[in-house]
Amino acid sequence: MTLDPTGKVTMEKIVSLCKRRGFIFQSSEIYGGLGSCWDYGPLGIEMKRNVKEAWWRYMVHDRDDVVGLDAAILMHPQVWVASGHVEGFSDPLVECKKCHLRWRADTIEGKSCPSCQGELTEPRQFNLMFKTFMGPVEEAASIVYMRPETAQGIFVNFQNVQTALRKKLPFGIAQIGKAFRNEITPGNFTFRTREFEQMEMEYFVKPGTDQHWFDYWVQRRLSWYKDMGIRPDHVRLRPHDRDELAHYASCCSDVEYLFPMGWSELEGIANRGNFDLTQHAKHSGKSLEYFDEESGEHYIPYVIEPSAGVDRSLLAFLLDSYDEEPDKEGTRVVLHLHPLLAPIKVAILPLSKKENLASFARDVYADLRGCFMTQYDDTQSIGRRYRRQDETGTPFCVTVDFQSLEDHQVTIRERDTMTQIRVPIATLKQTLMAKIGGEKFASQQVWSSTSAEAQSSQVSGS
Ligand code: ATP
Repeated sequence: MTLDPTGKVTMEKIVSLCKRRGFIFQSSEIYGGLGSCWDYGPLGIEMKRNVKEAWWRYMVHDRDDVVGLDAAILMHPQVWVASGHVEGFSDPLVECKKCHLRWRADTIEGKSCPSCQGELTEPRQFNLMFKTFMGPVEEAASIVYMRPETAQGIFVNFQNVQTALRKKLPFGIAQIGKAFRNEITPGNFTFRTREFEQMEMEYFVKPGTDQHWFDYWVQRRLSWYKDMGIRPDHVRLRPHDRDELAHYASCCSDVEYLFPMGWSELEGIANRGNFDLTQHAKHSGKSLEYFDEESGEHYIPYVIEPSAGVDRSLLAFLLDSYDEEPDKEGTRVVLHLHPLLAPIKVAILPLSKKENLASFARDVYADLRGCFMTQYDDTQSIGRRYRRQDETGTPFCVTVDFQSLEDHQVTIRERDTMTQIRVPIATLKQTLMAKIGGEKFASQQVWSSTSAEAQSSQVSGS
């Protein structure tokens, strides 16, 4: 945790800011904490929802070919037999402390990692999946697992979704949800934890077109991080070498971010071939073939999987946006978060607590809060209030002064440039909406109606 990519941010600074300002707390802190488990506080949960919303919009709502799913965390135990998790994680394992590859202790010679020569942990009989029991009796027959990835919920619902929505290849199924892994070496704050959230999409394609779609999704996923404000020189692609590939994958590329501990995985994009559907067909006895009306063929689709972590992305967005800038009063800490990710979009700051001004400012607040996550703050000096908002990434502060009572105008102060503009209250909402995310944000407001129309036309048109 010593490398400091921007020259200013370290993991310690982010951990401290997260606790001080209510983004992320240690789990069960009053009991001494629970290793590698974290709780998202009032600002953290807003930002987390924004990260998930941005991903969902980009991967599902903005496209015609991807639909969503929310599968149960607990699944039939045979799912994990078919997927290879039961067998794959039940051997004595050692993990490389450097590259985190895990090896079956009985298949390697020597004491260092065969991939990078890093130091290895002691071997343990290790199952990465958390086990629990379903029903009142704790016996082998009632064992179920806390899912270690969301992907399998998508594979086992492939046919349900395909037939219910009459989807034609290529199409994708997206899911965001919790996953649990009894990691051997958790750490680096929320980078590697035992309970985390994933954003995964399985994109089903005709065999033979898989390389094209793999390349497409690799580029799309890289673009998303840049669109959401990550500096282009802090994010890169790292194609896997042949010997790094999981047994089912024919190619895989990681999107990596320059974390304080060095370049590390944010997301993996894999060509999983037809491994998963073939396995589930074999173990369930149900055919998972797709009938291609155009060619008249039956086949098992290939799958391209972009698989990202909510917590890792959020951590990268915090790290990347952090800055300390000299100003008149010394140094201001500022999170230059993309406005769509910022936990609070607008702060309403009346310049006095006098009743006539306060009630006027409260009306402005009431008008905006229906559209944006808005905060009302009337404590301490205006300079202090700006600093507080800058430190949590609020992109716009609206100050209401006595002049506002007369000319019905307020001042918008921008976080990044610290410039101030005077705007009529009548156009305040539109002005802020355009600044926060332009048309993308505006369309969020109308999404619920258009999605219903899109869904119904898709079903009735099919
Ligand atoms: P790593 O090599 O870092 O352990 P992985 O290759 O095992 O990750 P995947 O199984 O590909 O990870 O999971 C997809 C994504 O889920 C990762 O890119 C990461 O963002 C997230 N993720 C995986 N494991 C964890 C974890 N223990 N804590 C937080 N996020 C995780």
